[in-house]
Amino acid sequence: MVVLLPILDDLLNLIFPQGLECPFCGGPCEAGDICNLCGEVFEGYRQESRCARCGRFAGKGALISNNTSAHYCYECRRHDWPFDLVRAAGPYEGVLKEAIHRFKYNGRRSLAAYLAELMAGALRAEPLFAGVDLIIPVPVSGDRLRQRGFNQAALLAKEIGVMIKIPVDGRSLVKDFETPAQAGLSRSARESNLAGAFRVTNTAKVYGKQVLIIDDVFTTGSTMSAASYIIRHAGAKQVFGLTAAAGRYF
Ligand SMILES: [Zn+2]
Ligand SMILES: [Zn+2]
Repeated sequence: MVVLLPILDDLLNLIFPQGLECPFCGGPCEAGDICNLCGEVFEGYRQESRCARCGRFAGKGALISNNTSAHYCYECRRHDWPFDLVRAAGPYEGVLKEAIHRFKYNGRRSLAAYLAELMAGALRAEPLFAGVDLIIPVPVSGDRLRQRGFNQAALLAKEIGVMIKIPVDGRSLVKDFETPAQAGLSRSARESNLAGAFRVTNTAKVYGKQVLIIDDVFTTGSTMSAASYIIRHAGAKQVFGLTAAAGRYF
């Protein structure tokens, strides 16, 4: 067996040249690509039922009408949002969730291009996004930027802007301070806290535009909602959102 190992290694190297690991699961794959398994998982996500408004994915037991394009989650049936539509590349779970964590908290910036590619796929699948003429990342405060070293939403926005050839404006929306942990607060309390932290620095850049706001995840929707509210009040014609992952509704 020991004798056979180098041969096995050579064989594996032939089939899967060394160093080419799937950026999501670490499994073998071709250069610059993701592995077949992850490809299948993400393809499956594209087929999944989602809320027509907030883009969250249907969980087990969620009521889905036959007409999935007109299906709204419980929250979207009860409340309005300041955004027109949000879409995500996949649910916030499994390899996608792990990749976002490595990207955001472990500083694996190289993941931005792969996540952005998935997001661009979700964007192209949504006809209403065709009129988007400005991309704005959800900002982080100066303190958070110094602490983390980068803004994950800005990195994603930059990649997507290049992919779909739409200008990215990382300056017109700013976050003046980080809001404290929001658990336990009602949705409206969370959103008004957050909305107070965001500010548009240059209204003229946003006025009349169809803005696409980029963030990494959409879970409660509070961040996207607060950012959309501020952008809409600055005169944007339409406000859309796109994230790498979204939660599920039940
Ligand atoms: Zn993989
Ligand atoms: Zn919804």
